[in-house]
Amino acid sequence: MTIMQHRFLEFIPDHLEEGIIYISIEYCTAIHLCVCGCRNKVVTPISPADWKLTFNGKSISLYPSIGNWSFDCQSHYWIKDGKVEWSESWSKDQILNVREYDAEVKIKYYKTEPEPEIKRIEKKSRAFWGWILNVLNL
Ligand SMILES: [Zn+2]
Repeated sequence: MTIMQHRFLEFIPDHLEEGIIYISIEYCTAIHLCVCGCRNKVVTPISPADWKLTFNGKSISLYPSIGNWSFDCQSHYWIKDGKVEWSESWSKDQILNVREYDAEVKIKYYKTEPEPEIKRIEKKSRAFWGWILNVLNL
C-alpha cells in the first residue's frame, strides 16, 4: 500500500518528492508526482468543478479519483485518508466519457444559463434606439 503524506504550503516547491502531496490552500491547488513512479507532475485544482480536498486532521483525501490518461502510464487511483487505492485502468471509451462529463460539469459551473433569445433581442434593440437618440441629440 502506498502512503501519501501531505504538506500544506503557500507556494508549490520546484522540487517535488514522491509520496507527498503538496497543497496550497491559497491557490486552491494540490500537486504530487504520479504514484506509479513515472515522475509526471499531477496537478489537481481544488474547486467545485474539479477536485474536492478533505483533511481529517491527520490525512487528506481527494475526490474524485485521479486519472492520468494524458500520461503514458495511464494510471488511475484514489487518494483516500492518505493512502493510494489503485483503480482499474481505463479503456479509451471510458476516458472519452469521463472527459466529456468533465467538460459538461465545467461548462455548467463556469457559464450561467444562456439568455433567452427574446431578452437578447430586446437588449440589442434598446441599445440601438439609445444610440439613435444619442446621435440625434434627443
Ligand atoms: Zn505515472
